[in-house]
Amino acid sequence: MIPSLTRRAALLGGLCLCCLPRPGFAADALSMDEVAPGVFIRRGPDAEATPENADGIANIGFIIGRDGVLVTESGGSLADGQWLRREIARRTDKPIRYVMLTHVHPDHVFGAAAFRGDNPTFVGHAALRGALDARGEFYRQRLAEILGGDKAGEVVYPTMDVKDGAEIDLGDRILRLTAHGSAHTTCDLSMFDTGSGLLFPADLLFVGRVPSLDGSLLGWFKEIERLKAMGAADAVPGHGPTRVAFAPAMADLARYLSALRDETRKAVAAGVPIETAVRTVAQGEKDRWALFDTYNGRNVTQAYQELEWE
Ligand SMILES: [Zn+2]
Repeated sequence: MIPSLTRRAALLGGLCLCCLPRPGFAADALSMDEVAPGVFIRRGPDAEATPENADGIANIGFIIGRDGVLVTESGGSLADGQWLRREIARRTDKPIRYVMLTHVHPDHVFGAAAFRGDNPTFVGHAALRGALDARGEFYRQRLAEILGGDKAGEVVYPTMDVKDGAEIDLGDRILRLTAHGSAHTTCDLSMFDTGSGLLFPADLLFVGRVPSLDGSLLGWFKEIERLKAMGAADAVPGHGPTRVAFAPAMADLARYLSALRDETRKAVAAGVPIETAVRTVAQGEKDRWALFDTYNGRNVTQAYQELEWE
């Protein structure tokens, strides 16, 4: 807050502090980007869940269509989802008709409870239900330990399962949904908005923050090709800037995943034990990504277990 106020004061030159917008208002106004007409996205910081950020670490937002609102990502906790719901209410009184649950990770689904009272359709990959059965309660407990039980939220299941693909009509635009094969997770759902031409790959695209592998490394390469074939120029990634040029951003991700694949394969072939591989594989990518040391070792473990059976 202080640095941004200082910057703002510098920009505004002679204005005294009392002339500036209230900090709360300024922060709120800055925190949602209108990345295309009627498409609002909040950038999540490159951080882990803390009491201060309420697990609001993913890029979340909404699309205002002619007939109602679609929530592109619900948020990382009940508190984060409630914040998003207030942001929607500030901009439209149209009904919230759809809430996307893009995959099982807590920073993408625990805001959903904030929308229950709106009675929307909760949309998820056909495999999301099983993934929530396996992990939902564990994630909820962990989140409650970090944030406190009243802020964590609860597990919300999809009421619309997408098996291969589906379309949602908001009146002036169609959202084309694709249920992906195992990649970032086993239940990744992407969305293409015909209104804005934007692709919403969720966590199939990380920008700046190191990707986390929780599905299939080789599968992820396949799904990258499917996403490319959709032909979108720009995308809203799951983490990173709120709107990016798709091709170069995806090329960066593919470069990291290629290093992870190729160097893990080499380690497996040379009989390097997994405990050593986690410290040596893909180290050339270290300075290119936020949170690299937090996730790369886990990614190597996952890749090693997948590739040793090739
Ligand atoms: Zn994720």
